Amino acid sequence: MWRSRNRLCDRPRVASLQGENETEVVIIGAGPVGLCLAIELGSRGVDCVVLEQRARTVPTFPTANHISVRSMEHLRRLGLAESVRKAFRTDWGGDWIAVTYLGGHEVARIPDALADSTPRSDSPEREVWAPKPCFDPILESAAESFASVTLRYGVDVEGVSEQDHSVRCLGRGPKGGEIAVRAAYAVACDGAGSRVRQASEVPVVGPPPLPIRVHSAFFRSKRVGELVPPGGVQYSILGTASGPTKTPFGAGLMVAVDGHELWRLHGPGLDAQNADTSLAALRALGASDAELLDSRAWTPSQGICPRFRIGRVFLAGDAAHVVTPFGGLGVNTGMADAFDLGWKLEATLRGWGGARLLDESYHYERHRVATELLEYQGVDFSQSEPRRIRPPLPLYDAPDESLWEGGPSGDAARVAYGRGLVASRGDEFQKPQIDLGYRYDGSPVICADGSPQPDRTELRRYQASTRPGGRAPHVALDNGQSTLDRFGPGFTLVLTRPADDVAAFERQARARNVPLRVEFLPDAAPTYDHAWTLIRPDGFVAWRGNALPVEPATVLDRIRGAAFSDPNRGGTGTFAYSVVT
Ligand SMILES: Cc1cc2nc3c(=O)[nH]c(=O)nc-3n(C[C@H](O)[C@H](O)[C@H](O)COP(=O)(O)OP(=O)(O)OC[C@H]3O[C@@H](n4cnc5c(N)ncnc54)[C@H](O)[C@@H]3O)c2cc1C
Repeated sequence: MWRSRNRLCDRPRVASLQGENETEVVIIGAGPVGLCLAIELGSRGVDCVVLEQRARTVPTFPTANHISVRSMEHLRRLGLAESVRKAFRTDWGGDWIAVTYLGGHEVARIPDALADSTPRSDSPEREVWAPKPCFDPILESAAESFASVTLRYGVDVEGVSEQDHSVRCLGRGPKGGEIAVRAAYAVACDGAGSRVRQASEVPVVGPPPLPIRVHSAFFRSKRVGELVPPGGVQYSILGTASGPTKTPFGAGLMVAVDGHELWRLHGPGLDAQNADTSLAALRALGASDAELLDSRAWTPSQGICPRFRIGRVFLAGDAAHVVTPFGGLGVNTGMADAFDLGWKLEATLRGWGGARLLDESYHYERHRVATELLEYQGVDFSQSEPRRIRPPLPLYDAPDESLWEGGPSGDAARVAYGRGLVASRGDEFQKPQIDLGYRYDGSPVICADGSPQPDRTELRRYQASTRPGGRAPHVALDNGQSTLDRFGPGFTLVLTRPADDVAAFERQARARNVPLRVEFLPDAAPTYDHAWTLIRPDGFVAWRGNALPVEPATVLDRIRGAAFSDPNRGGTGTFAYSVVT
């Protein structure tokens, strides 16, 4: 068994990466997923080293802008929600806006589409706009605040091999020297082009990439800030002052990176290989003072790896699945991988997790959810070859000259076109079912109880439920806290009625070293409609009942991945347990 640094006083901390170093988990890639995993592990006292190719001084290209309500709940659990909420300009807004051109007419607006300050009834958090250049530094500082986390920049990982119950990760440091880190586990968070995944020969299964190349520019311009209608974080620009740009995306999609002078544009006139062409395109749009900071060319693609685990190596984030930027799903899905995997690694390294936690449940749970998201984005996996049955991006009729006209006819054209645009984009921004409603039914570490599924038919409607396998619901407690604030770092048993026999359950948990907190929350009823609800460290319901199970050990062994007889393996049926009534 790999032992933690905390218990192994004579093992020095991995402080410098000269020669071979040891840690418990090596993370490849310090994007949002790698950093969230490092924070999750750091908060649990697990030693980890993060190896990142990029130099720290290089700002990250602004993608991954929209942080979902569920991601914010995890960040709240880790004490980071407040800083993330303030990362982007707080007095600006979070609207999606369509304009004829920069400085032209506003054609459509979806208020609070991407960041919303209105309190919600289903969560103590709200979605937030935090592009990578604002978000990643918060994650970096948080990760570094843990003594057990080491971040190393400028390290290009070349390969990971498995030997002697450990992995060996090899890379090149900033000066070209070889760097080796040995760990109990490796997690590849190295993005869509994951070298670790490629070296492991794990394919990405999905329809062919879209036959387009999107060019994106990250630029600085004070002038753009004067031209856009205030309050937007995403602007569809339909053309230039001289008329519409006849592409499916008009003259481009622009996002606010800091709400002042930093912007990112995906646009038809840009060329990532030619800065002059891009600058000319930006100026033609009205960004007369544009300074080009960085460029990218990319191909929207969709796919998923058939395995998220290869021996001691796990795949997470874009390394495991790729979606199109539509709906802001990429970063949030990847972060959810990290939050699922973090506690399972801790449980295994500390000895209380059973083999099924890492062997089966991580892949099962996260592969299932990522597949659902790809289906939502129009991919059909029901045939032997996955195929795209809907466009993965919302397309609407190209704008025409009538939108540029003045007077009542122009106004009428803009209103009509704007209505259609809003209708085509609506589901992209209002989808609590995707964000909060995803489930781990059939997981080998969830005790299904045979109750009916919550209604998941409507994208815009999330039905809170304590049915095992789903997110433990938020209930505003009488003292102003959320139920979510009462969950501990281990398992939490929420009791809504006094229970004398809870000590027996605690005893069984202690005997297995399963960390368990008991919370008596009568005001969580009736949403918590069973007297006992057992919540996992990542805030999912693992089991519920109205009394102590006859064999508490059976429940505890299943949720910690140590139960091997499972009639429902891979299905969504009922976990067989009985209760004392
Ligand atoms: C143009 C664009 C716009 C997007 N907009 C959004 C959006 O609005 N919302 C959203 O949710 N998602 C968006 N996405 C997707 C989002 O960027 C990704 O889903 C997200 O960044 C994935 O995070 P990650 O940590 O898995 O990977 P990444 O963010 O790609 O991070 C991977 C890290 O690994 C490092 N790395 C790679 N190889 C090595 C190596 N060999 N050794 C060491 N380090 C290595 C990289 O330098 C990088 O820092 C967008 C993507 C693109 C391309």
